[in-house]
Amino acid sequence: MLEIQNLNVYYGAIHALKGINLKINQGEIVTLIGANGAGKTTTLRTISGIEKAKSGDILYKGKSIKSLSAPDMVKAGISHSPEGRRVFSTMSVLENLELGAYTRKDKVQVKKDMDYIFSLFPRLLERREQYAGTLSGGEQQMLAIGRALLSRPKLLLLDEPSMGLAPLIVKEIFSIIKDINKKGTTILLVEQNANMALQCAHRAYIIQNGKIDIEGDTESLLNDNKVKEAYLAG
Ligand code: ATP
Repeated sequence: MLEIQNLNVYYGAIHALKGINLKINQGEIVTLIGANGAGKTTTLRTISGIEKAKSGDILYKGKSIKSLSAPDMVKAGISHSPEGRRVFSTMSVLENLELGAYTRKDKVQVKKDMDYIFSLFPRLLERREQYAGTLSGGEQQMLAIGRALLSRPKLLLLDEPSMGLAPLIVKEIFSIIKDINKKGTTILLVEQNANMALQCAHRAYIIQNGKIDIEGDTESLLNDNKVKEAYLAG
């Protein structure tokens, strides 16, 4: 479904992505894990058209999407739930969710999808009239995921959905990610929480200093001694 080929991204003189190759098949949850500053967010931002690559290509369903703008990416079926729970704080929960559906004309189906999101995240339903800025961190994360889902993505890019959340909420979020995937959405999950991400995903790529260090199915990575020592310790 998505294929990243030899991708190089720079921020001025900083070579952030150094020849990344990555593949996501339809129906999969693929996780990209790695330490602070390894290049995870840059990879997602480049897929969704926010950063531009200096060289290499990104193919979506066999076609290059490297020069598409971020809004065109959403129309093509790729939606990005950014790091740091970027919700519109002076808008209500409902207004934030409606923004996620702004490209859609099928209002009846939008209403059904909204109900589905409220069934995934009942707390958002209770707080639908509340300003998004007054939600807790976990609730804002739920809102960011819900908003991304409302564009009906075929491919959902999730940037650190567990960041800063209490362990119980993290478990809940990961179980919802699996649920979303079972309903047919392919997912690329960026995480620092390697343990949880490997338990949730089918396949994984580990990125270090802008390069893919290790890749494989998550079951074998969870049992790999190098992975255990370098990424799962503690
Ligand atoms: P984290 O888990 O800390 O969010 P990450 O793996 O997502 O890390 P990136 O945010 O992709 O890492 O950053 C990769 C590298 O690019 C880092 O060295 C970072 O300092 C650098 N970088 C990221 N954004 C910018 C920017 N806007 N300008 C300059 N350098 C940047």
